[in-house]
Amino acid sequence: MEKRELIYEGKAKRVYSTDDENLVVIEYKDDATAFDGKKKGTIESKGIVNNRVTSVLFKILEDNGIPTHLVKLLDGRNMLAKKLSIIPVEVVVRNRIAGSLATRLGLEEGAPLPNPILEFYYKSDELHDPMVNEYHILTMGWATPEQLAEMKEMALKINSVLVPFLRERNLELVDFKLEFGVHQGKVILGDEISPDTCRLWDVQTGEKLDKDRFRRDLGKEREAYIEVLQRMEGGSLNV
Ligand code: UDP
Repeated sequence: MEKRELIYEGKAKRVYSTDDENLVVIEYKDDATAFDGKKKGTIESKGIVNNRVTSVLFKILEDNGIPTHLVKLLDGRNMLAKKLSIIPVEVVVRNRIAGSLATRLGLEEGAPLPNPILEFYYKSDELHDPMVNEYHILTMGWATPEQLAEMKEMALKINSVLVPFLRERNLELVDFKLEFGVHQGKVILGDEISPDTCRLWDVQTGEKLDKDRFRRDLGKEREAYIEVLQRMEGGSLNV
C-alpha cells in the first residue's frame, strides 16, 4: 500500500493517506519530546523500535481478542493501520507508583499498587492534557457511555495481557498510556504501545528502559530502546 498525502504530523509520527480510504500508513520518527514539547531531542532508531514494538504488542493483543488499528508492519518505520476517528481521551493504566502519580500524591516512586489504577486525560496540547474524570468525558460528549465502558474494559484487559507477556521478557510494566478510536462504528485501540508511552523497568535491577531515560537525562536512551525491542523479538537485531 503506497503513501499518498501527509494528513497529520505529530511529535513522534506522521500519518499518510493511502489508496484505500479506510487505511493509513503511520511513519514513526526518531524525534523525542518531553514536558509538553519543552524538551526536544532525537533518539536514533527510536522510530524503528517503536514501530516494531507496537506491532509485536498489538499482534499479541489481537490474538487475545482486543481489536487494534494494526493491519500489518510494512517496514522498519512504517505500519499499515485502520483509519480512526480518535476519541480525545488518553487512558493511563498504572501498576506501580511513578511519574505524575508520585508527584501529585507526594509518594515515592516504585511501590506496587494492589489494583491497577485507571486515569483519564483530555487530549489537548494547548491545555497540556488536563486530567479529567468520567463525568467530564460523558458530559462533554467525548465518548458515549457505551464507548467509555468499552475503553475501561479494554484498558484493564490489555493490562492483564501485557503484564505477564512483558514479565516473561524480564520487563515490569509500571504504567502506560492508551488511545482509542472509532473505526466503522467500533471502538478499537489506536496509537502505539512502546517505550515512549510505557514505563518499563528491568525486573531484576529496576533499570529504566523507557522514555524516562530521555526525560530525566539518564543517558543511553538508544541502548535502552533497542534492549526493549530485543527482549520483545528475541535474536539479533538489525536497526
Ligand atoms: N504518557 C504518555 N503520553 C503522555 C503522558 C503520559 O505516553 O502525554 C505515559 C507515560 O510514558 C507513562 C504513563 O503514561 O508511561 C503515565 O505518565 P504520567 O502521568 O506519570 O506522566 P509523566 O510523568 O510521564 O509525564
